[in-house]
Amino acid sequence: MEDSAKKHIAILGSTGSIGTQALEVIAANPDRFQAEVLTAQNSADLLIKQALEFKPNAVVIGNEDLYDQIFETLDPHDIKVYAGVNALSSVVQMDTVDLVLTALVGYAGLTPTIKAIESGKDIALANKETLVVAGGLITGLASEKGVNIYPVDSEHSAIFQCLVGEFHNPIEKIILTASGGPFRGRDRQFLTTVKKEQALKHPNWDMGAKITIDSASMMNKGLEVIEAKWLFGLSLEQIEVIVHPQSIVHSLVQFEDGSMKAQMGLPDMKLPIQFAMTYPERIKTDFPRFDFMNYPSLTFEKPDMETFRNLSLAFEAMKQGGNMPCILNAANEIAVSGFLRDQVGFLGMSDVVEQCMQQISFLKKPTYEDYVLTDKETRQKALELIS
Ligand code: MG
Repeated sequence: MEDSAKKHIAILGSTGSIGTQALEVIAANPDRFQAEVLTAQNSADLLIKQALEFKPNAVVIGNEDLYDQIFETLDPHDIKVYAGVNALSSVVQMDTVDLVLTALVGYAGLTPTIKAIESGKDIALANKETLVVAGGLITGLASEKGVNIYPVDSEHSAIFQCLVGEFHNPIEKIILTASGGPFRGRDRQFLTTVKKEQALKHPNWDMGAKITIDSASMMNKGLEVIEAKWLFGLSLEQIEVIVHPQSIVHSLVQFEDGSMKAQMGLPDMKLPIQFAMTYPERIKTDFPRFDFMNYPSLTFEKPDMETFRNLSLAFEAMKQGGNMPCILNAANEIAVSGFLRDQVGFLGMSDVVEQCMQQISFLKKPTYEDYVLTDKETRQKALELIS
């Protein structure tokens, strides 16, 4: 394939869990994909290693103190090096970029995603917090610019895959599956004793620290409910969550005739990452295949929303709308980093989120600037609450 026929991809967050797996997909399909831009916040050594292997046009390092070291190594290889948070918003607009994979963690994904959409780039969205914080703004802008947003989150990819060929058929409801995380079936008594080492051990998925804690606390599913609302244009009543500990059924869609479609497979993020990069095509892989003989039963149960309050807080934030999901997200980001530093207990994370939702000013129709301010104020409040 000619270089111009390849899809040129900017990976925001190339050194994280999603980013490194996206590079595995690119490495397995060098005739189809070119890593055009790679970015990292602090992982300079890995960024350099990736750049030497994938020869991107440019790299960005978020932490400006690391610029000199990276520039000295990569400049002789004709790889452009930029630093700082504003550089992320510039590189996504480069003419040579076809698709932007947003694999940053948290609120940091918002502004670069907006810039990419404004310059007409399709998005492979792995940064769910962007849609949680400002879903209306992002999806409105994307439809105005004719930009496609391909979900990378496994549940949303599952729904997207179920909808192929069905885009004109109304959805009755969707059912998001949740593994239940490492503390499924536990009570609040037990959860008061939980330490980060236990919360960081996910039974099925190997992921970054923030999303792993979110999975253990069920906040991840709460964020995914809001993400699904925006991606698929659904109301609160159309979204259900079911716990499915084996993580084989990745989610389901029910249509108006009562028929349900599910997408299944072993839990492996490379599949949704690749599908977001190749849609509408499916390309051959050597990923391990699911075998029914290894799974004598696939089980489903109701989520325990009283023990895991984050899920009900997320439904509540979505119901209120406006800047409330932005408050939920900012408070949770601070709560999770506090938990990882032993400053707040496992159940205390929900208290921080709930108190911020009660105390930060509610705005029904926030602008971009309102989201920025809400995020900042909520973080300050959450920090006060855990100090
Ligand atoms: Mg997910």
